[in-house]
Amino acid sequence: MFDAPAKEKTLYDATWYSDAQSYWDTVTPTVNGMLGGFAHISTIDATTSLSFLGEFVHGLKGRKGVIRKEPRIGKSYACDCGAGIGRVTKEFLLKVPFERVDVVEQSAKFVEQARESYLKREIEEGRIGEIMCAGLQDFVPEEGKYDLIWCQWVLGHLTDDDFIAFFQRCKKGLKLGGIIGIKENNTSKDLVIDEQDSSVTR
Ligand code: SAH
Repeated sequence: MFDAPAKEKTLYDATWYSDAQSYWDTVTPTVNGMLGGFAHISTIDATTSLSFLGEFVHGLKGRKGVIRKEPRIGKSYACDCGAGIGRVTKEFLLKVPFERVDVVEQSAKFVEQARESYLKREIEEGRIGEIMCAGLQDFVPEEGKYDLIWCQWVLGHLTDDDFIAFFQRCKKGLKLGGIIGIKENNTSKDLVIDEQDSSVTR
């Protein structure tokens, strides 16, 4: 007869991670699902990421080929954090091109889609290293492994404490001179909570 009262969501409550998990379980394992219905931005997203990262991996050349900046990182190994089905891995990181990319994703359904379909060819080509089904709050990168650890549209799912601890572990996971790349939405307000997917925009 009556609708259950809407559950009130408070910041970093006890069900913060399980609510996010339940939300992502309802999402179809497609590029459109990864982008909340904005599949059409996938190409421009990847193109701008490639251009942004360009100077870090290729350096910068001025007129007449004068070197203005040396490359800062190698192209051997990247890690895609909160990878979903592997959209960023396929459209951006492997096009840099990194020789090999590891994938970390909390949803077993997305990981399966990556393995069985979306990244199948890249796996067969040996370009995907490990595919880890884990929350970033639990992910411990191997020390000194990565040239780049990339986090895109996922960090809002971490609590502040887990966010900081995650970066401390990532720092150790980098090769000498390696970098952490972050592509997240920002707000001019302090925080905006998303009650639907249990995340926060900082
Ligand atoms: N970065 C990908 C996916 C974005 S959608 C892309 O841009 O295409 C957000 C992804 O973060 C989903 O796959 C979701 O399952 C994952 N996610 C949510 N909370 C997470 C957590 N705590 N740890 C790791 N991944 C998480």
